[in-house]
Amino acid sequence: MTDTKITLPESEIPRAFYNIAPDLPTPLPPPLHPGTRQPIGPQDLAAIFPQGLIAQEMSQERWVDIPDQVRDIYRLYRPSPVYRARAFEELLDTPAHIYYKSEHVSPVGSHKLNSAIMQAWMNKEEGVKRLATETGAGQWGSALSCACQLIGLECMVYMVRVSYDQKPYRRIMIRSYGAEVVPSPSPLTHQGRAVLARDPDSPGSLGIAISEAVEDAATRDDTNYALGSVLNHVVLHQTIIGQEAKKQMELAGEYPDIVIGCHGGGSNFAGLAFPFLKDKLDGTRPGLRAVAAEPLACPSLTQGRREYDFGDTGGTTPLMMMHTLGHDFMPRPVHAGGLRYHGSSPLVSHLLDAGLVEAEAYPQGEVFATAVKFARCEGTFPAPESAHAIHSAVQHALKARDAGTPTVILFNLSGHGLFDLAAYESYLTGKMDLNA
Ligand SMILES: *Cc1c(COP(=O)(O)O)cnc(C)c1O
Repeated sequence: MTDTKITLPESEIPRAFYNIAPDLPTPLPPPLHPGTRQPIGPQDLAAIFPQGLIAQEMSQERWVDIPDQVRDIYRLYRPSPVYRARAFEELLDTPAHIYYKSEHVSPVGSHKLNSAIMQAWMNKEEGVKRLATETGAGQWGSALSCACQLIGLECMVYMVRVSYDQKPYRRIMIRSYGAEVVPSPSPLTHQGRAVLARDPDSPGSLGIAISEAVEDAATRDDTNYALGSVLNHVVLHQTIIGQEAKKQMELAGEYPDIVIGCHGGGSNFAGLAFPFLKDKLDGTRPGLRAVAAEPLACPSLTQGRREYDFGDTGGTTPLMMMHTLGHDFMPRPVHAGGLRYHGSSPLVSHLLDAGLVEAEAYPQGEVFATAVKFARCEGTFPAPESAHAIHSAVQHALKARDAGTPTVILFNLSGHGLFDLAAYESYLTGKMDLNA
């Protein structure tokens, strides 16, 4: 019997990020300037991003070195284990082997710290004093505030008002890490004041909070902006997940038939899937399937159109070619706050169009039923976001059972749900809108 928990020593923390851009079958359409609609250059991003990250955003190098100082901080929680979900397999009575990469073991409880550390380090290197960002449910805000504290930067977080009010623990965590956090829309920015003038009780949205954080960074010399998903450099940083997982699957003596991640902006899905997709793109693993699982309430990949759209509500960011529901789309208030984003990673969108990745959408009632079953078998409470990946894994494990085919499934447990217990309560007490 192979181990339940497959671990790697710290010496196996990856030394480079994997950049899928040069391996794409066709080049990625460039982002466009919101005013001129011409392709943007590095100088267009310099007001809010450091040169090092802009270079990564546009890089065509397959491997991008990870600085030693960043690898040293990764030692706090990496490499993260891969688990074989034996009890869960038994419950499902499936011949499938189900594995999960456990990104929930990071100090902040999700994969987001992987990119936050790299982004904070690069900004510090280039003399930036302060980072501004947005957060929805609070996962990215807590990751960036933790990284800024570890690296020595100030941090300003615009938190979507409804989460600020309803999810106190994430904002307490952000403050405890030493960052400033305000509800968005806020009176501190032009964008925030404009929304408040129209609707003083606005619950806020991720798109509005992004507009505020970008404005903050663009109007202050000492401040840059940091985004927790979607962009090429964020996806790039997350590829340490899949690189570790490949070594761990090798130790288990298996190669996955299907890799699965939940999909909000695309970073944890891509982080796990891209290093495996490298093998599909170079022809060594033509049969590999990569599945992105999203909420039915915000189905950007399964129902959105692939077109140029803004990353924020205010229409101030560059236009990106991506699957989008429209930058003014207001998703229903499902509990997977981290998946309520109108757009998607241009890289994931590009691969979806090329038929190299697949997408599935699920209603939250089904997702929570799976989350509770998983917790009862494996002990760990999945984040509502991550539970979408688990639910997809269940569907594929049941198909394997019905077809009688042994299938190896690997999904990303992108975060734990210990700050989401109110969502579990609403499910358990029958108050949840199951069909949302
Ligand atoms: C933010 C978040 C997500 C969604 O973001 P991606 O960029 O799509 O990964 C998924 N899971 C968790 C736990 C998150 O915090």
